[in-house]
Amino acid sequence: MDFRLSKEQEEIKKAAREFAQREFTPELIQECDREEKYPRDVMKKARDLGFSTIKIPEEYGGMGLTLFEEVLVTEEFYSVNPGIANACLSSTFGTELITLFGNEEQKEKYLRWVTERHAITAMANTEPEAGSDAAGIKTKIVRDGDEYVINGTKTLITNGSVCDFVLVTGRTFQGKKRHHGITFAIVESSRKGFRAAKIRNKLGMRASDTAEIHFRDVRVPEENILGEPGKGFYYLMEFFNHTRPRVAAQAVGIARGAFELALKYVKERRQFGMPIASFQHTQFKIAEMATRINAARLLAYQAAWQCSTGERRIELSSMAKWYAGETAVYVADWALQLHGGYGYIGDCAAERFYRDAKLMEIYEGTKEIQKLIIAKHYLRDSLRR
Ligand SMILES: Cc1cc2nc3c(=O)[nH]c(=O)nc-3n(C[C@H](O)[C@H](O)[C@H](O)COP(=O)(O)OP(=O)(O)OC[C@H]3O[C@@H](n4cnc5c(N)ncnc54)[C@H](O)[C@@H]3O)c2cc1C
Repeated sequence: MDFRLSKEQEEIKKAAREFAQREFTPELIQECDREEKYPRDVMKKARDLGFSTIKIPEEYGGMGLTLFEEVLVTEEFYSVNPGIANACLSSTFGTELITLFGNEEQKEKYLRWVTERHAITAMANTEPEAGSDAAGIKTKIVRDGDEYVINGTKTLITNGSVCDFVLVTGRTFQGKKRHHGITFAIVESSRKGFRAAKIRNKLGMRASDTAEIHFRDVRVPEENILGEPGKGFYYLMEFFNHTRPRVAAQAVGIARGAFELALKYVKERRQFGMPIASFQHTQFKIAEMATRINAARLLAYQAAWQCSTGERRIELSSMAKWYAGETAVYVADWALQLHGGYGYIGDCAAERFYRDAKLMEIYEGTKEIQKLIIAKHYLRDSLRR
């Protein structure tokens, strides 16, 4: 495996860094964080430059690149500001499902809506009583003539109150096993019976929209059903295999952003007549943070690489997501600690990274769930007995 970046990849990374440094201004960062404002203008600019449509095939107006390039862009955006980065890059969350499992008409209709008319998308599986237990959902997607009728509640959904359409899971029939019978439907937010309520007061990532969505007798035509009815759980697992390396890259970006702040501060801040960088404990922490970030980045690259090359090793996506998430939390904690009391004050960027980092251990499967997936891979035979 050779992770030297090509000239094109270096250029994409540089363009992403320059965009985020230019567009994520300190004023916008503060405003979005304090007021939980969704940064629609910057999101659109990121769209126009192709940063949020990297993996969408060229024939549907996307960049036609791979998860590896997406991982490179993700680290750069998140290292500047995770909340705005999330609003920009997750604005097409869920489109992977259409690329992977959609038919030609669905790709033509929905992917083009995203690439040509800035449609914002969402993927909704979590319910009030089904989070880690992804197959425990109660939402129903039931056939009625040529249509399907959707009833249920989804919660904690990224882009839920700003999306133009959502890929939602629901139970169509009760199969032999509880993960059988789950179906994905594509639902436009303009449909009758769709109602979203923004969830406020998140710890971090406050520029990113999160909402509860209620589906009440929402009717969609048969052509809105993704792939084969009843196979939704398998689609969801494959989707996560393709999105968890990106969460790992988000976490690496957060860790790097926090680390860069800490590095600058320990050189400038003086106590006992010398820079705090001269204390051995500070040096050990800098060494530990840098090493963990590097290890997390390599795991994210490896996980993205296996998806980009068509290999299917979901344990690598879970390793990257768990380790990088924990690294983001560790590094953001120490970056704040090294800022002392000033790190605890709202205007300090270290404080924001600290709040934003925690999500990396929770969404798209908690760190505990990632460990279960990794363990299952290695213990498969003995667990079956
Ligand atoms: C900001 C944000 C955005 C999100 N965006 C989306 C989205 O776009 N779409 C979507 O569908 N969901 C989304 N989610 C939901 C997210 O994926 C869930 O919160 C997550 O999967 C955990 O589910 P839960 O919150 O119900 O926690 P629970 O499943 O109730 O878990 C609670 C605790 O128990 C632990 N636990 C649970 N089961 C086990 C087990 N078997 N073994 C060991 N420990 C276990 C968990 O690790 C956790 O520590 C989002 C969440 C947040 C906070």
